[in-house]
Amino acid sequence: MIDRIKKLEEISRKLDPQILQRKEWEQQVISYSNDFLENIENKKAYYHSDPPEILPQEFEINENPSTLPKLIDTIGNSIDQVGINPASGGHMGYIPGGGLYPSALGDYIAAVSNRYAGVFFAAPGAVRLENKLLQWMSRLVGFPDSAVGNLTSGGSISNLIALVTAREAHKLKARNFEKSVIYLSEQAHHSLQKAVRIAGMNEAILRYIPLDEKLRLIPAKLEDQIKADLRSGLIPFFINSSLGTTNTGAIDPVDEISEIAKKYGIWHHIDAAYGGFFKLVTSLDEKFKGVEKADSITLDPHKSLFLPFGTGAVLIKDKKSMLAVHHYLADYMQDTHAVNEEISPADISPELTKHFRGMRLWLPLKLFGLKPFRAALEEKIMLARYFHGEIQKIPDFETGPEPELSVAMFRYVPANGKANELNERLLENIRKDGRIFLSSTSIHGVFWIRVAILIYRTHLKEINLLLEILNKQAAILKDQKSEVSPNG
Ligand SMILES: *Cc1c(COP(=O)(O)O)cnc(C)c1O
Repeated sequence: MIDRIKKLEEISRKLDPQILQRKEWEQQVISYSNDFLENIENKKAYYHSDPPEILPQEFEINENPSTLPKLIDTIGNSIDQVGINPASGGHMGYIPGGGLYPSALGDYIAAVSNRYAGVFFAAPGAVRLENKLLQWMSRLVGFPDSAVGNLTSGGSISNLIALVTAREAHKLKARNFEKSVIYLSEQAHHSLQKAVRIAGMNEAILRYIPLDEKLRLIPAKLEDQIKADLRSGLIPFFINSSLGTTNTGAIDPVDEISEIAKKYGIWHHIDAAYGGFFKLVTSLDEKFKGVEKADSITLDPHKSLFLPFGTGAVLIKDKKSMLAVHHYLADYMQDTHAVNEEISPADISPELTKHFRGMRLWLPLKLFGLKPFRAALEEKIMLARYFHGEIQKIPDFETGPEPELSVAMFRYVPANGKANELNERLLENIRKDGRIFLSSTSIHGVFWIRVAILIYRTHLKEINLLLEILNKQAAILKDQKSEVSPNG
């Protein structure tokens, strides 16, 4: 037996590379990341090609070890040069992106020491650090220190945690679900509808409250609907408002909605996954009026704090209900219960063992301080306004409303020609060019192109490049159109 153990040890020790090997690998990885970042402003934001039909050999898992340079080649060719490049300042398509460099270093440290950040007993320092970050967020949005928070993997899980906590707070049982009412707008993020299904509440009633011309939920209509629902014996329990819709950046009137929620005893959740950290820009305080009155709020550091993907947050005032849903005392974890001075992430989240996300968030905040974050966010807002103004100077373009945050919408509407089709073609041509990546949306059947500015690497240069591309592409479309159908 000892012989066999020793034989196995010899092989298993390969999992623990020694210093020379580590240094070699580190150097190869660092050199790849430096090449990736070098000259990033001239690299594509979108690689327009069909996904390869044959997966690279290197994707296959088998008994044989490979070499790092070979694998890095695969990463470069088959992962980092296909699809959207979210590290590029030219990525203005979907909201998340960026990926602060110190976060990568934080992840590296956290993965090497692998602190168990799920439970206070196991890693008091790591858990305290995360709780500190959450307290900072709480104070930022005006929540009391008694609020609890969780660093999640993203806004979707944050919204789910808020919904199930509200369900608990209202003591709703399966037999009540058919009568339970959730209020939201058609511009609410689809993760809400997903959360309803995951929470087993598909039978609940979803009320889509009408929107004003700027696509903001109308509080008076909300109140009318609540009154009608109460008259019919239903159970209004959850209102979602968006602080920055993903689609257009519209901000629901959260202050008035909070007042209504309070009046009728309904849980008010603010989904600020996109807009939340714009609170750092003090000149925007007016837009955040009343945020502190909500029961819960979702924030997404991997959006408006520029973190790499996989970092969301949820803050909830009702600690008791949050614990009631998520807390569990497992027999095999009895040692961890003794030291219960500080709340553990596992007590307030579906997760147990978790990534030590705090490190990737804390390191950049400390290394940079808050000032550059505030500046970058204000810059993005101004870039969106600048774009919105400049695009109107190019003939035949129209725009959506003046951006409230950093999303602008526009479309190409020449005197004749089918606008929706033309804009689809325009978008496709921009993507083929690849230096800038944009997305589209449909509002009441109208096709709009979206410019969502939230990568910290997006600056004036990228916006001017976009304007230049639009100018050129519009001219090309115009020529094509007059060739094909001179009469429109
Ligand atoms: C992105 C987004 C979400 C979902 O967050 P993920 O981090 O992608 O899971 C939810 N709500 C809004 C308003 C968003 O913009």
